[in-house]
Amino acid sequence: MPFTVAIVGRPNVGKSTLFNRLVGKKLALVDDQPGLTRDRREADVVIEGLPMTLIDTAGLESGDEGLTARMRLQTEAAIEQADLVLFVIDARTGVTAADEIFGDLVRKHGKAVVLAANKSEGRAAEPGFYEAYSLGLGEPLAMSAEHGLGVGDVTEAIAEAY
Ligand code: GDP
Ligand code: MG
Repeated sequence: MPFTVAIVGRPNVGKSTLFNRLVGKKLALVDDQPGLTRDRREADVVIEGLPMTLIDTAGLESGDEGLTARMRLQTEAAIEQADLVLFVIDARTGVTAADEIFGDLVRKHGKAVVLAANKSEGRAAEPGFYEAYSLGLGEPLAMSAEHGLGVGDVTEAIAEAY
């Protein structure tokens, strides 16, 4: 089994945008509609010269219950399979209740985590970036999947955990 990285987080934080950027192709659908990635996407990639498998997950379904059973199972399976969890939040909205539920799920599994504070291309992301420390998943890395900023810091952190 190759080294496996699961991109995890609630809908709309930019997981699929990051997945596409790391893969270098548009394999995952990106949309404003939360939870668009119903089915898991997987790709074999080379990051920092290291071969690995990258998994894009659907994440949390929005709604009062937080996690729907299917998405939770899909994400849990991906976390279990992963050597490293790439946990993504939206720094512009800051840490939400859904992010906290998800953070707990990731911590419970005890996997190595890289915490990406996505959508950090503007000043509006600063408070959210500092909030991310409260997740207890280590130091956040400010990045923008859409604009390609800070992605190198994320790939370096992945390589360090390899
Ligand atoms: P997912 O549900 O977590 O997979 O999120 P998507 O990748 O589908 O992205 C959700 C929305 O966020 C889309 O409209 C993306 O264009 C947008 N998005 C993704 N990355 C960034 C970013 O770095 N900055 C900004 N401003 N928007 C982003
Ligand atoms: Mg997606």
